[in-house]
Amino acid sequence: MSIIRVENVSKTYLLGEQTVTALEGVSLVVEPGVFMAIAGPSGSGKSTLLNIMGCIDTPSKGRVEIEGIDVSGQTPDSLADVRARTLGFVFQTFNLLPVLSAQENVEYPLLQMTELTKEERAERVAFYLNMVGLTKYADHRPNQLSGGQRQRVAIARALVTHSRVVLADEPTANLDRRTGESILNLMREINQNAGTTFVFSTHDKRVMNRADRLVRMEDGQITALGMKREGSWIFVQDRRKPEDDPEI
Ligand code: ADP
Repeated sequence: MSIIRVENVSKTYLLGEQTVTALEGVSLVVEPGVFMAIAGPSGSGKSTLLNIMGCIDTPSKGRVEIEGIDVSGQTPDSLADVRARTLGFVFQTFNLLPVLSAQENVEYPLLQMTELTKEERAERVAFYLNMVGLTKYADHRPNQLSGGQRQRVAIARALVTHSRVVLADEPTANLDRRTGESILNLMREINQNAGTTFVFSTHDKRVMNRADRLVRMEDGQITALGMKREGSWIFVQDRRKPEDDPEI
């Protein structure tokens, strides 16, 4: 079964008198356990698609299913619950709360889970801080951490609710090359060891090449869908134009 299914989704925004089409007829299946990159130039609709898959935004047309449940017509309250229990988010700019320590930032989404005791929360937070290699920095605030460390806190925060999918919008864009690579390695390790599904947007070729599924977007549409087999891409759907980059 798919973990996320997007069927014929369109999204338009009204900007004053103008209608902006961010997505047009997008269909996509995310299978459990994949490490999927969404690639494409700025403005091609990557963030909009991630936000719709993450129930942060709703489609203007079409259907979205999370673990087989149609979320397109659901109320914001029930979506908040799906978001909290199935989906985790990582953002380009980390989005940590500046007044909270690393430990408190990771604990934050657990405060909604009233079934957990204080001890259970502390245990989970310690487990995920250790997973991202930050046990020693538990009491540091975001401004006492490097960019890479902040993104590690964000990854721990995305996982702490036992999310099955982590949606990451350009997670390495604000990091230098080496730090970006270590964040990507960490995400890949978690994907392979814990089976967590990752869907992340990028326009960095090195980042997209680390994925095992590739979604290429252009002008709000999917122009190619790739699967990696023995180190090379096989495209199951390909509507790229001759002038597009042949490698991706
Ligand atoms: P990407 O993530 O690939 O850079 P986006 O999904 O952010 O692309 O944007 C796709 C298109 O939708 C762009 O033309 C953008 O300007 C437009 N868009 C995105 N969000 C909004 C919004 N809230 N209001 C108006 N237009 C938007």
